[in-house]
Amino acid sequence: MIVDRQGRRFRNLRISLTSACNYACTYCVPNGKRLVAAQDELSAEAMARGVAYLIEAAGIERLRITGGEPLVSPKLEAFMTAVGQMGLEDISLTTNGQLLAKKLPLLVNAGIRRLNVSLDTLDASAFRGIARGGDLATVLDGMNEASAAGMKIKVNMVPLRGQNLDQVMPLLDYCLERGYELRFIELMRMGHLANDSNAFLQQFVSLQQLLSLIGERYEYLQADAPVDATAVRYEIPGQGHFGVIANESVPFCRTCSRLRLSSTGWLHGCLSSSNRHYIGDLLDKPRHQALPALQRLLVKALGDKQEVAFSGGATVMKIIGG
Ligand code: SAM
Repeated sequence: MIVDRQGRRFRNLRISLTSACNYACTYCVPNGKRLVAAQDELSAEAMARGVAYLIEAAGIERLRITGGEPLVSPKLEAFMTAVGQMGLEDISLTTNGQLLAKKLPLLVNAGIRRLNVSLDTLDASAFRGIARGGDLATVLDGMNEASAAGMKIKVNMVPLRGQNLDQVMPLLDYCLERGYELRFIELMRMGHLANDSNAFLQQFVSLQQLLSLIGERYEYLQADAPVDATAVRYEIPGQGHFGVIANESVPFCRTCSRLRLSSTGWLHGCLSSSNRHYIGDLLDKPRHQALPALQRLLVKALGDKQEVAFSGGATVMKIIGG
């Protein structure tokens, strides 16, 4: 197993199944153009082999399937069937929920029990303004159906000043009533926001601002979270939990255990680094040839992690998954 000076190792793998997405969220895609799949995306079989090799070479225990939007990918079923047989501790999926109801039987059959659904507002017109695609009612129905099918749901919301700050409390109430856990994600300096400090600062809402807003209505206590969790978790006694992924306010780089694989075969050891390492060519090779080369790249990828704080990166989230 590869471990760095800070004791960090790769335990959690995030796979961006495709860079294609049926939304074009303002904070992710500045020009509003929906991304299509890259021409050189790996096949489902090659990506699954990548997971198998990374389990061996890096000690991956948990997998999250993301994108782009994973539910638009024709590779989804073949990929999930293959990784479902690898003995991973946990497989979960992050989606915008637009195709959730349609794909639910497939997800249930593949053994997915935990979903993160991105939802930035309960206001249909603000939803169209931020997501620039999809339909709010369809997402809410999809979450209802998934919950009824026994899925544990976390809702991801990126609070944005001037766009959806008025939705913090309605979304929190909506989630508490239904047993979903709301995760606020502090806006990250990714993609176009990495080079545009004004645009970032105009929209950024901090952990402290969120907590004061929530504190006007609810009492909350800090709750337990795994050592390598990226979210700070809170309990509202008798009602439920919420969390904040506070990459600016409470940086989590010191305990980060994440590794990312893009749909075109690039390994990313850190969201904040522009370094990436190509493994697409190794996935056609037999195990005994691929693993030593992969291990050398994993050492470099682990070295890309930041020491303390997340400073942002020019890569667009859709390319490497959130
Ligand atoms: N399409 C899926 C979805 O919508 O959840 C998966 C991919 S999306 C890139 C994953 C997550 O990244 C979403 O929750 C999205 O809100 C978040 N995200 C994208 N750009 C972000 C940014 N600049 N800051 C914070 N979160 C961001």
